[in-house]
Amino acid sequence: MTIILNLRSASSGEAKSCISRAAKMIRSGGIVVFPTETVYGIGANAFDAKACLKIYKIKGRARDNPLIVHVSSMSMANKVGTIPKRYSSIISSVWPAPLTVIVKAKSSIPKIVTGGLNTVAIRMPDNKVALDLIRQSGVPIAAPSANISKKPSSTSAAHAKKYFNGKVDAIIDYGPSRLGIESTVISLSDFSLLRPGSYTMKQIEMAFGRRAKIADENIGVAEKPRSPGTKYRHYSPDKPLFLFTGDINSLQAITRGISGKFTFIGSDESSKIMRGSAGSVIRLGSRKRPAEIAHNLFGALIALDSCKSEFAIIECFSEAGMGLAIMNRIRKACSNKCFSSQKGLEALLKR
Ligand code: AMP
Ligand code: MG
Repeated sequence: MTIILNLRSASSGEAKSCISRAAKMIRSGGIVVFPTETVYGIGANAFDAKACLKIYKIKGRARDNPLIVHVSSMSMANKVGTIPKRYSSIISSVWPAPLTVIVKAKSSIPKIVTGGLNTVAIRMPDNKVALDLIRQSGVPIAAPSANISKKPSSTSAAHAKKYFNGKVDAIIDYGPSRLGIESTVISLSDFSLLRPGSYTMKQIEMAFGRRAKIADENIGVAEKPRSPGTKYRHYSPDKPLFLFTGDINSLQAITRGISGKFTFIGSDESSKIMRGSAGSVIRLGSRKRPAEIAHNLFGALIALDSCKSEFAIIECFSEAGMGLAIMNRIRKACSNKCFSSQKGLEALLKR
């Protein structure tokens, strides 16, 4: 049975007792879905190999796709991995933040958590409930995003409930995730970006005084990506989803022959243009506010599965700032199926 712990309107006393109940579950080898500022996580005691194995089974996650270990203090982080001295004070001033660092793993971390690698991913989430849960558990919490593998990540407890009701011990409901896209992952060994995320390249440069180089996997040329998760299909809705890379003003004409058959996912501005042609429209927010697009993206992909349309078209966004992570998730959700002309769309529909 899954207990839903509702902290949305809880008094501070009620919240405290809910979190201590969830912490007890973590300590005794249980699985708890909890909020972070990026997306919801599905967590277990990072020192408990048996509990962490359950996460892989529940998610259907490949065993070589390691988990991020969430900590509530630098001293806890130092028990999980070796943070290079030259970065330690910067990280301690940046955290809590949506920035995950890959460092050498300590032997206390079971191999199941690192997917067999000798490195480990560590992050301190910027969410009060997440931090309280880790603190009260007294152990670091290994937690990937709370979704069935390949499906879009949960940005609300309702999404997590849809995926995991009956499969986890508890789901903590603390309302919608503030940011909506997972953390940025950087390797500290060569200061490279392994996965774009909610912490922007500019923020990295400002904090560390240097640019992270973009690892091959982000430009699709790595044979054996160092971030194993990046080689798997991801964020996919059940329906076919195609990325439109052309000028939005031409999409109405391109889709004339199939009007009403597809769902359009896009900015408020483009949704206005496509309202008459699409069977349904899912609005992501204003194109002028990328944070809003990021916040709404996974919810839109999950909502798409309940639409009656045969397939969906999503539009492109600028890759500046948060846009890099937004477009990374969109491309993966589309499995890179793009078009810019009527011929291109027809070819995708015939596949
Ligand atoms: P998720 O928690 O589902 O957002 O996924 C965690 C991401 O972190 C995946 O893309 C993993 O491949 C990546 N990751 C976790 N640990 C490591 C590691 N030791 N080395 C490289 N990437 C990692
Ligand atoms: Mg994930």
